[in-house]
Amino acid sequence: MSISESDYSLIKEKSVGGRYVINEQILQFLENNNRKLLIRAIGKSVQEREIKSLKLGTGPIKILMWSQMHGNESTTTKAVLDFINYLNADFAVASFILERCTLMIIPMLNPDGAAAYTRINANDIDLNRDAQNRTQPESVVLRKAFDDFEPHYCFNLHDQRTIFNVGNTPKPATVSFLAPAHDPERTISKTRGVSMQLIVAMNKTLQEIIPGQVGRYDDGFNSNCVGDSFQMLHVPTILFESGHFPKDYERERTREFIFRAMISAVQTIAENKIDNYKRDDYFQIPENGKLFFDILIKNAEIIDSSLKESASIGVLYKEILSKGRVEFEPVIDKRGVLSDYYGHEIYDCSNEADLIKLRQQSFYQLVKE
Ligand SMILES: [Zn+2]
Repeated sequence: MSISESDYSLIKEKSVGGRYVINEQILQFLENNNRKLLIRAIGKSVQEREIKSLKLGTGPIKILMWSQMHGNESTTTKAVLDFINYLNADFAVASFILERCTLMIIPMLNPDGAAAYTRINANDIDLNRDAQNRTQPESVVLRKAFDDFEPHYCFNLHDQRTIFNVGNTPKPATVSFLAPAHDPERTISKTRGVSMQLIVAMNKTLQEIIPGQVGRYDDGFNSNCVGDSFQMLHVPTILFESGHFPKDYERERTREFIFRAMISAVQTIAENKIDNYKRDDYFQIPENGKLFFDILIKNAEIIDSSLKESASIGVLYKEILSKGRVEFEPVIDKRGVLSDYYGHEIYDCSNEADLIKLRQQSFYQLVKE
């Protein structure tokens, strides 16, 4: 039974929204819920921000999840807070999950990066390339949580860029998943197979609400990536990537899809239904393509005489933190023949109405020659 829209709007955590989500909000959320959660301070970031974990549930199956190890990837953090509210509300499925499972959640692993709205931590290190050497305090915190908790499953929660489409289709990869590899040959161990089955279960749920908008993330092996490193330790790990939904740059819709995917995976685990899903179906999910621009301007030779016939201009937004909000600044990425590409927003200069609309856009000065 999936949760209804009205139930979702009731449990949706109102204190977080948009792209800029910071540690103060997480700490406040934990404080507000401290009677229902077992909260622990598990370490500090480079700039001495507190990193906290919470536990809920009493069951024998242990699931570890962490979000925002990349500071500017906040969508899954919002979804995690919704998921905690769901588990703490009065739903039969939630109660069952809490009887069967114990969940340990680190809602924000990189609070310094979150404050600065950067992928990296305060020492300019990508924590998802630090799994082996663990040079950073945040990497040590995560690994210690993993070693102490000894999870049976791990969820590694991220955001991906707006450039990704599904396979060769014009659909955006609104959600992508990966069952990380554990060796360079990308063989399928039992552990990795379980990750694949859980992804198949989540894909089934998501296809009903966002048909054709689920992709499979690139599975190149890198032992310095956290997911790959935990998979090497024989714990089924799943990479979640929150992506673009049309017109949803604040990622509030994608937040809901991730929330629903999480319920699907955890419910499948709790109900012991993993074997209802075929591992091979994982490969039916198309791989991510990289064919989207945020804005695609077709027949751009009409506004830029330096271009040849049937040329396009592809614009991507750069995300900039300004006064506590993320702003989207258009930047030209490519000019030329871009006939294989798609746009989240499209203007065709050969169409009079589009041209009028384009000239009214603030980025018009940027694109015309
Ligand atoms: Zn990431």
